[in-house]
Amino acid sequence: MDARESALDTAHRRATEFLTTLDDRPVWPRAGLDEMLAAFGGPLGEHGIDPAAVVDEIASKAEPGLVAIPGGRFFGFVIGGTHPAALAADWLVSAWDQNSGSSTLTPATVAMERVAGQWMLDLFGLPESASVGFVTGGQLANFTCLATARNAVLGKVGWDLAERGLRSAPRVRFVVGADRHGSIDRASRFLGIGRAEVTVVESDDQGRMRAGALERTLAAEQGPLIVCLQAGEVHTGAFDDFETLIPIAQRHDAWVHVDGAFGLWAAASESLRSLTKGIERADSWATDAHKTLNVPYDCGMAIVRDPSDSIAAFRTGGDYLIYSGLDPWDVTPELSRRARGVPAWAAMRSLGRAGITRLLDGLHANAVAMAAGLSAIGAVEVLNDVDYTQVMFCLDSDDATRALGEAILLDGTAAVTGAEWRGRATLRCSMSSWATTRADIDRTVAAIRRLVEH
Ligand SMILES: *Cc1c(COP(=O)(O)O)cnc(C)c1O
Repeated sequence: MDARESALDTAHRRATEFLTTLDDRPVWPRAGLDEMLAAFGGPLGEHGIDPAAVVDEIASKAEPGLVAIPGGRFFGFVIGGTHPAALAADWLVSAWDQNSGSSTLTPATVAMERVAGQWMLDLFGLPESASVGFVTGGQLANFTCLATARNAVLGKVGWDLAERGLRSAPRVRFVVGADRHGSIDRASRFLGIGRAEVTVVESDDQGRMRAGALERTLAAEQGPLIVCLQAGEVHTGAFDDFETLIPIAQRHDAWVHVDGAFGLWAAASESLRSLTKGIERADSWATDAHKTLNVPYDCGMAIVRDPSDSIAAFRTGGDYLIYSGLDPWDVTPELSRRARGVPAWAAMRSLGRAGITRLLDGLHANAVAMAAGLSAIGAVEVLNDVDYTQVMFCLDSDDATRALGEAILLDGTAAVTGAEWRGRATLRCSMSSWATTRADIDRTVAAIRRLVEH
């Protein structure tokens, strides 16, 4: 065997070992960063070793520090799950080594990304002419959309940002909801928008922006305007009321951006679609494939209604070409990059429309079952309306809630992560994986009951 073949064989064997033991291993790792640094650290040796031996060494040393994220009982943050077709396609992406910024250079992978983008627009009910830029995740999707938005709203008042820069530009008002995701603040920071320059609009008990508050905010100000809404609040899973809010923003000539990292996918299910009603009227949408679609990490999408806005913000060189020749590097900040849209194509091809709907409905049904199971434990209070995939709960004191969170991770049956909501310590349970079964829910509820009632 040549070196590549034996290295890949080893990776296949070790990956399979990991995946087949997911159900039995503690979900949270038994080793921390210091142990992992000790395992992998030390000076770089003078002489190299065989590639297959490197793969074996990695797999053995990493073992105690790995989290069972692809298993059925990882409910932390809003991540998790890798669909088999996406996982295997991701291996091909690395083997092929296609630099996927340009269609001339890598036609096969750019074509798959373009088609994956079209499928998503169709699933989400968004305009089929929108541009879809594949970026590393929701953070960069938000950044990409907001950079495009800023360029466009300044352009509308006659300010050419690419030529004249930001320093003396008209002020862009940036209006966000009180329960926006932290990545919106980071994106605005990358864009040179300071915390003091952001206007925050009050939200309701589930984290949805209040329409009256948005009206009042917008009435008070003039000038270029970006309004940022949200599909899927990370604690409650709540969706802004797009049907009401977008027209308000548009009456004030705003660019409307929607952070739909995991929530935009609700539009792909008939029974969940009503949560996203009116969302298609926005100007840009950020979402992730590595969350709800269950592809490996490094796959988010920046969707922009008018591709010429994307091109104006990102195309290299000054030429304004027609966008039938839209290349990946025309619509995102990157040049060289991996073919991250291929696993998304693979997951959608493997699931089909019906499979995607079933995935979404299954995540929601699991969340409902988890909430019911947890509520049946006397001391547990479920805090949110379980309209989508998130379940947030607590015990009667912050200390008890935090202690339970630690006990759950130590127990190893499942992983949930802590948060703070309206001044209270909470635990968050996110249904994000195709691999979660009803048995996983039952096992998790039983473990939490045991820990609460010990
Ligand atoms: C996860 C998440 C993000 C950030 O996405 P990454 O893929 O982690 O970069 C942004 N917004 C929301 C609502 C999220 O849930």
